[in-house]
Amino acid sequence: MTKILAIAIPKGGVGKTTTAVNLAASLAVLEKRVLLIDTDPFGACSMALGFTQEKIVGGLYEVFNFMHSMPKVIHRTDIAFLDFVPINTRNNQMEERILRLSENRTLLKNILRPIIPHYDYIIIDTPPFLRGLTANALACADSVLIPIRSGHFSLEGIDKLFKYFEWIREASNKTLQVEGILQTMYEPHTKVTEITERELQLRFRKYMLKTIIPKNTHLIEAAFYGKPAILFNAASKGTLAYLELARELMGRQQSASQQLQTVPVQNIA
Ligand code: ATP
Ligand code: MG
Repeated sequence: MTKILAIAIPKGGVGKTTTAVNLAASLAVLEKRVLLIDTDPFGACSMALGFTQEKIVGGLYEVFNFMHSMPKVIHRTDIAFLDFVPINTRNNQMEERILRLSENRTLLKNILRPIIPHYDYIIIDTPPFLRGLTANALACADSVLIPIRSGHFSLEGIDKLFKYFEWIREASNKTLQVEGILQTMYEPHTKVTEITERELQLRFRKYMLKTIIPKNTHLIEAAFYGKPAILFNAASKGTLAYLELARELMGRQQSASQQLQTVPVQNIA
């Protein structure tokens, strides 16, 4: 079964795009069929994957405007099992227009429907604000992964985010789950890290993912050169951490489907 995972939190620079790109690449290297979709008008996923404007035939912008069909804007990448849909907003007017169109929360959900069976995972990167494009991503996601930059978060921010998920559940996606909270840019042995970690464990223990993404300059360099980290430096700590995250999520997916398979027959009727 396909899993649709949105990477979201209304905070800039916490590692959403880095997580979306490198988690998608890691799942693909582990031979899962993956589609990465960029819903942030800033278009950072394109940069991180080396998609310059000449290489882009169209994106979500054209699909939202009914100029192209979704299959037309699916781009192959340097990783065999990884496909990519850019956003392709190239100026302020296009950005304004896609933001206006995204007030219809179910647009992305409707557009995605026919292509879902072609993938094991659909990973959606979102902008650092709620509503609009993020609401579209959450309306079609099975679950949401929340990256928290170690030492830079506020508990009120997470509380607000959880309230927003409740609203999305009521308004457009009853079954939206929280996949988990991922600590990114982790620097051990600092006071702020210790405090953040203690607070997170106290308040959100059940949501904390086991994998922690360390602060790692190879992740920055890889994005700069337009490559997922695994194609830039396969042995770096950042690459290995994202592979571990992919395995952690795959393990959960597997045990969820096993549980489904083992539902007693009398409960199925
Ligand atoms: P925005 O909300 O602006 O889209 P974002 O949440 O998507 O930001 P990223 O763009 O992924 O955040 O990361 C912000 C910056 O931090 C980037 O320069 C990125 O290369 C760097 N970065 C991300 N993860 C790490 C890491 N684990 N170690 C070191 N640098 C990192
Ligand atoms: Mg981003």
